[in-house]
Amino acid sequence: MSFDHFFNKKSFVHKSFGLASRAVEIDLEEERKEILRRYRSLLRVCNRSKTRADRAKIRKAFEVAVEAHKDMRRKSGEPYIYHPLAVAKIAAEELGLDTLAIVCALLHDTVEDTYITLEDIQNLFGKKERIIIDGLTKISGVFDHQNTSQQAENFRKMLLTLSDDVRVILIKLADRLHNMRTLDHMSREKQLKIASETLFMYAPLAHRLGLYNIKTELEDLSLKFKDPESFEDISGKLQKTQAVRTRFINQFILPIKRSLDEMKLGYEIKSRPKSIYSIYNKIHQKGVPFEEIYDLFAIRIIIDSDEDHEKSDCWRVYSAVTDFYQPSPERLRDWISIPKSSGYEALHTTVMSPTGKWVEVQIRSTRMDELAEKGYAAHWKYKSAIESPETIMDKWLSQVKEVLDSPSDNAIEFIDNFKLSLFSEEIYVFTPNGDLKTLPKGSTTIDFAFHIHSQIGNHCIGAKVNTKLVPLSHKLRSGDQIEILTSKKQRPKEEWLHIAVTASARQKIKAALKEERKIIVDEGKEMLNKHFSQIKVDWLSVNVDELVRHFDTFTSSELFYRIAKQRILLDEMKSFKVEGGRIKFYKKKSNTTSQQLITSSPSFGNNTVLIGDNTQKVDFTLATCCNPIPGDEVFGFTTVGEGIKIHRTTCVNAQEMMSKYAYRVIKARWNSQNLVQFEVGLKFTGIDDVGLVQKITNIISTDMNVNMRAISFEARDGIFEGKVVVLVHDTDHLSTLMQNLKEIDGVLTVDRIESEFS
Ligand code: MN
Repeated sequence: MSFDHFFNKKSFVHKSFGLASRAVEIDLEEERKEILRRYRSLLRVCNRSKTRADRAKIRKAFEVAVEAHKDMRRKSGEPYIYHPLAVAKIAAEELGLDTLAIVCALLHDTVEDTYITLEDIQNLFGKKERIIIDGLTKISGVFDHQNTSQQAENFRKMLLTLSDDVRVILIKLADRLHNMRTLDHMSREKQLKIASETLFMYAPLAHRLGLYNIKTELEDLSLKFKDPESFEDISGKLQKTQAVRTRFINQFILPIKRSLDEMKLGYEIKSRPKSIYSIYNKIHQKGVPFEEIYDLFAIRIIIDSDEDHEKSDCWRVYSAVTDFYQPSPERLRDWISIPKSSGYEALHTTVMSPTGKWVEVQIRSTRMDELAEKGYAAHWKYKSAIESPETIMDKWLSQVKEVLDSPSDNAIEFIDNFKLSLFSEEIYVFTPNGDLKTLPKGSTTIDFAFHIHSQIGNHCIGAKVNTKLVPLSHKLRSGDQIEILTSKKQRPKEEWLHIAVTASARQKIKAALKEERKIIVDEGKEMLNKHFSQIKVDWLSVNVDELVRHFDTFTSSELFYRIAKQRILLDEMKSFKVEGGRIKFYKKKSNTTSQQLITSSPSFGNNTVLIGDNTQKVDFTLATCCNPIPGDEVFGFTTVGEGIKIHRTTCVNAQEMMSKYAYRVIKARWNSQNLVQFEVGLKFTGIDDVGLVQKITNIISTDMNVNMRAISFEARDGIFEGKVVVLVHDTDHLSTLMQNLKEIDGVLTVDRIESEFS
């Protein structure tokens, strides 16, 4: 097969691009120039592809991609080739990847979206390129275009393909990053789905790979689309407070700069405020106001120092900093002596500034800094590191593989476990022989036992930590030396699932329990079989099914299990009516619990919310986790047994629902014609003052003519906190009410309560 030579082509053939709704005049000559400009700007950042052979490969990949995508356009109307060019640029510039990765980034969408086949890729480029493109096509085919219960399983497979070539995952991250940067042109539903998925899977993955910049950008962009209002609010406030922060930091670093100059060390000092997403989380999860977070600083001192001196130089800088500022001893983090398992190296300390603010100071060498910013990609550059990058990478991969290989029925649960270990920090502990083991923070004796070996875990009865006897639930601390005590009689217990925190220990316990359960189920089956013959019931599946229905156990194995555990007593069955070897019941046991759940929702008309694309009436209830009211952006979620529930798109559970159970999410919007009232909870704080309650209730019931459902106030040390439940029509009605309340003298904050429990 042959491709036209892009550079020698005189002009493009005019085609209709399917943009019928917009009559766009496209200047093809200008576009061709722009494509070349972008290509050249890609070449400028390919620092690791300097040889003629490298350049030729990149150029060939570019030509193949341009030709293959020539009739395609992005949702924005731009030529499709802008996308692979941008992905390749991210791979080269932000991830520091090599020629092979840049070639594959340029070609990443060709096999999926064009006539090009994997055989073509192999013939034109080579076997390695084929393997990577194959991986990328597979991920995209099942991962981007299908619902999420399958996604979880595929996420696992995707991580397994990682071991073939890490570039697959790095290019996929670059692809997702560019898609997030250009998400504006997608439909609202797509934006929400892609943003949720990014927060749920890609950001943690970037974090785990040590790609902190990319992780932060992915999180901020996700928030921008999931909750545009909060995003604008926080970023606006950050801009407004910029000058104050700069002044503070300049003063803070002045004496440090002086000593570093005296030490004659080359250095650079960077400071950045917290990310918008992390501020958002603090505000929403911990209820801390913006004003208390925005000026939390971390400054970073990056020193020019060669690998032989970098460690001692970092400590010299540490002592220079702490000469001026008092450090908090429990907040010294030494990741220089023992790097994090992600490979991260640095010295962190938190010191007190003269104005009484804590400032985090990170100290690292240029090499450490590049590793932290570009993650594993940069490891390839520093092959002479004490522990080779391949070893660090292999270690991580074997950790991931261990979790992947453990049996698990439920891929989603796997991700939950996986995510859990992604976010936790680590502790370092020792075996009796002095071998160092890395475990997530919060790990217990049982985690350590399973970490050593499943058989040691299964028979573990306790441990000696630093020669003292401790129970299985004992939480380990860095530096502990642990000797596990075992007994042959010990069997795995269900309670262990509550005390184990590592994903791998939990997987192993579950596997062992499943084995145990099989034995118990068989016992129960045997018991029931015997009992049937005593009461003259035939051993038939209809009879077993009848009992399954009667006792609500859903499966026969659960029935047998409960019988063996004597949670269902065989004696109870004496009163059953038996006719001709069959069990007969007059009526089924009624199930009272499910009915109670439905009645708790407030009263409203069925057509207050329009669900799906058609406007047919569907029964729904309003979710109590986020209490939506008209005006809120909402979606429907199909529940098991409670019909459709309406949630706010900013609900704390929304991300999980949209990314894990995308197929159960239904479009929903408010029908504005109905004037119905909705319950909303408001929280106040203020300065305790006689008559304040009176003023508040006056505004609510007299001025605004709003009905109050419940009110409670509590005063302590001159500060009062109150909660009130009111009935409003929609968000406009609510915000006017909140505004009026804020204007009362003495009232400090008025906030909407997201859930009944907050
Ligand atoms: Mn793509």
